[in-house]
Amino acid sequence: MLIDSHCHLDFPQFDGDRAEVLGRAYQAGIHGAIIPSVGPENWARVIDTCRQHPRLWFALGFHPCFASSDSVGQLNRLQSLLDANPRNLVAVGECGLDGVASALPMDQQQRLCLEQMALANRFRLPVIFHIRKAHHHLFSLLDREPLKAGGVVHGFSGSLEVAREYLRRGLYLGVGGVITYQRASKTRAAIQGVPLERLLLETDSPDMPPCGYQGLRNEPARCLLVLQELCHLLDLSSVAVVKKLSENHVRLFTRIS
Ligand SMILES: [Zn+2]
Repeated sequence: MLIDSHCHLDFPQFDGDRAEVLGRAYQAGIHGAIIPSVGPENWARVIDTCRQHPRLWFALGFHPCFASSDSVGQLNRLQSLLDANPRNLVAVGECGLDGVASALPMDQQQRLCLEQMALANRFRLPVIFHIRKAHHHLFSLLDREPLKAGGVVHGFSGSLEVAREYLRRGLYLGVGGVITYQRASKTRAAIQGVPLERLLLETDSPDMPPCGYQGLRNEPARCLLVLQELCHLLDLSSVAVVKKLSENHVRLFTRIS
């Protein structure tokens, strides 16, 4: 039961052929997908997309690159949605810290992220993190607010040392198209050093196309290319890797079925 643990199928890039894209994923043996949201502007769209298609789950949160100084004031909206516990809600996210592309200063990003972690703990939900050039800041947030239901660092890119800091704090690492690029040698080596029990598969569609598909819209069926590369890196059969990954998805996102 392979799942694309991170794809933005609600984005307008899929408006013309969403059903076909999903059909190709199911055809490729992908059981379903998790759609993280980016902020109040797409919460309704994400919920709606998951209602219209089978085996899609979602997360609600504020992505640091879509957040503004108003976001903190809207946390109560997030709280009431989590409280309403809509069907197919599996996590809080994506939230996190972006040291490159966010318009919010880092201290405000940290506050927004920490508040979402506290909400996740209150509702016993895991957290989907977006993190770029700010690992050490997230380590200290995780130490201040340890996660009760765990979480995942999506699209992990970094060294084995960084990976171990997340593992130590109970997180999973999301493995995506990055590992299909030979030049990503640091991340490839990190993934080889992480126990398979702590990895999840993802595409981050429509972004992060795997090697060979640069410049094209990414889609969940390409999980298979990431899987292929992961099997190669770990020197394990795809049967063995799929079995473990399937267990991981269900262990973290306990509401998936
Ligand atoms: Zn994302």
